Amino acid sequence: MPRPPETLSIRGHGIAGALLAETASAAGFRVKVHDTGLPSASRVAAGLFTPVTGQRLSLSWNAEAALPLCHDVYPALERMLGVSFYTRLPTLRMFSSAAQRREWEGKPRAACVREIARPNLPLNAAFGCVEIDGGGWVNLPVLLDALKARRMARDEWGECPEADLQIDCTGHHASTHPLWKEADWRNAHGEVLTVEIPGLPQNRIYSFEKFLMPLGEERFRLGATYAWDRTDPAPTPQGRAELGNALRGITDLPFIVIDHQAGIRPVAHARVPIAGPHPDQPREWILNGYGSKGVLYAPWICQCILNHWQTGTPLPKEIQAPRRILRQRDRKRTQLHPARGKTALP
Ligand SMILES: Cc1cc2nc3c(=O)[nH]c(=O)nc-3n(C[C@H](O)[C@H](O)[C@H](O)COP(=O)(O)OP(=O)(O)OC[C@H]3O[C@@H](n4cnc5c(N)ncnc54)[C@H](O)[C@@H]3O)c2cc1C
Repeated sequence: MPRPPETLSIRGHGIAGALLAETASAAGFRVKVHDTGLPSASRVAAGLFTPVTGQRLSLSWNAEAALPLCHDVYPALERMLGVSFYTRLPTLRMFSSAAQRREWEGKPRAACVREIARPNLPLNAAFGCVEIDGGGWVNLPVLLDALKARRMARDEWGECPEADLQIDCTGHHASTHPLWKEADWRNAHGEVLTVEIPGLPQNRIYSFEKFLMPLGEERFRLGATYAWDRTDPAPTPQGRAELGNALRGITDLPFIVIDHQAGIRPVAHARVPIAGPHPDQPREWILNGYGSKGVLYAPWICQCILNHWQTGTPLPKEIQAPRRILRQRDRKRTQLHPARGKTALP
């Protein structure tokens, strides 16, 4: 087993860097974190996590491992930091068409999804609904501020060029970094509104083509849009219109827009997170590519990284950075010179 690192320098304090720093520091590693204050997806994210994904409501990749850790790690951090940021809530999912419902009915059902009678709510749920358990949301700005204060109090905030490992947790900014741009990024611009909807109960998350997440005092976070071709993390009139129209499609209740934010989700190849050393520079690591599931995956992947450093357990194959980058190189090489074929990958 290679010698475990002793000192870690983490670039970026979004959910990726913040949770890794806390996990490593709590396990006795010497940690330094720094953040240049560039636009951060974690600062605009709704913070939702749920075991299921997509129109078919199938289980997310490795949700069986990731979800229990969410339910352990976030409440434990709340207790340790003395702040409140974790809310567990069921999700009411409304089908948007008969075809969508049939598609769900024709697939094996995740145990956390159950059919319910049409609720007596001011919502257009003409095609029926299901309830999804096991999810909730994390108020990421509150968590990140509390973790930053902890890093500063422990003298763990700042740069450390001499550390054993330099770990890139810079979100979508990594996609233009000379070392990491090879990881085949397809980042996704996203927008959210904060809206006030008097008359809509706040005891669940609502999911339709978009989501409505209760914030208290009649307010909800309404999200989110996806645009694959936009690199400027600014809100747009189109995003605002798309979200407003989607809300009008499910309720006649009047609403007021209070706030409008946007950010860029870091999305690497196959929409799976990426972690580990660079194949050519083993001191340079990355932890990134959380896409739209940073809250779900961050605790579990930090645990995997810790196990790797402490016991030599390999990281899950799908997320391994060297393998992913070498594959991209191979793909490019095959596209350029189809006759040469592939090289053997680790
Ligand atoms: C509109 C929207 C809604 C979303 N909703 C959800 C949701 O409900 N649930 C969910 O799980 N995910 C959601 N996401 C996705 C989530 O935001 C991301 O998966 C996650 O925040 C990525 O975290 P990160 O730490 O990798 O990157 P970021 O949060 O972007 O953090 C990167 C940090 O790196 C810093 N940085 C950049 N360059 C450098 C450098 N050179 N040196 C030092 N620091 C640097 C930046 O200042 C920034 O603070 C949403 C995203 C968007 C845009």
